[in-house]
Amino acid sequence: MSSAPLPVQLYPKTCPAQFSCPSCHYSAQVVFHDPEAFAEDEPIGGRNRWMQEAALEQAQQKLTRRAEQALPLVPCPTCGFVQSSALRKAYLRAALPLVAMVPVVLPTLTMLFGVIATPSRMMSALLALIVTLLLSLTVVLWGKQRLVTEARRAVRFDRAPTPRNPS
Ligand SMILES: [Zn+2]
Repeated sequence: MSSAPLPVQLYPKTCPAQFSCPSCHYSAQVVFHDPEAFAEDEPIGGRNRWMQEAALEQAQQKLTRRAEQALPLVPCPTCGFVQSSALRKAYLRAALPLVAMVPVVLPTLTMLFGVIATPSRMMSALLALIVTLLLSLTVVLWGKQRLVTEARRAVRFDRAPTPRNPS
């Protein structure tokens, strides 16, 4: 009935990754630090070894995916190149919450402007549209900035890059 106590497994917080610059072909081994990890070590729950192993593997896969998303947002330490496609993807990811936000905010604002300003239906709809657009823009710009900052903080280079032209 009773089994040997399970060894304590901790959630992985870091994973190794390979940084490679498509512009100057600089490449380095980096360590990705999960920005969403808790400061404290978090043990993996689970009633048996199999469940623990599965949870660990899932956590590792998630970490690897996050590292893959973060790495292209980090400027190359030797030439400073950042992939514009990665930045575009960051904009898209930042825009994702709008799918849930706009259908709620737009009718609410239209109604609100209709109540407080009551110039006309058209006018309040237009006002609501403008405010929603500005709000969306803020969400996207802020979100993209957050993604970029987070990515740059999460990726650590093992050592300082050696400059290509020492002077
Ligand atoms: Zn480079």
